[in-house]
Amino acid sequence: MPQQPLAQVPSDAVWNWQEEGACRTYDPLLFFHPQNERGSARAKRDHQAKMICAGCQVRLECADYAIRAREPFGVWGGLTEEERDRVYARLNSRHHPRERGSGLRAAGREINEAISPRALGITA
Ligand code: SF4
Repeated sequence: MPQQPLAQVPSDAVWNWQEEGACRTYDPLLFFHPQNERGSARAKRDHQAKMICAGCQVRLECADYAIRAREPFGVWGGLTEEERDRVYARLNSRHHPRERGSGLRAAGREINEAISPRALGITA
């Protein structure tokens, strides 16, 4: 069985923002896909999670942490696994952001785009 990649928790990680997370009152399974979930089921669950993240007051702290930690699973800060993978692929692994706030600087465009009206399917 392959080893699952683990998050690389930054040494300066703080967790108090999680107490303010909008997801606290939702089933965590909404944010983490079950094994073998694909296609429309996965897109629908990811969309529901993103909608919650879009209204979360600690979204930027969450996204910054997830990018810095290279969280391998789940929706964090409105970013899906695939969206974060694209950020990781773009970033030089030797200079991967580690300090608090550096994830926002490195992936600001993707973090904003993740919950854009286009990404959420919202039309004016
Ligand atoms: S941004 Fe999303 S995953 Fe992060 S704390 Fe808020 S609701 Fe939870």
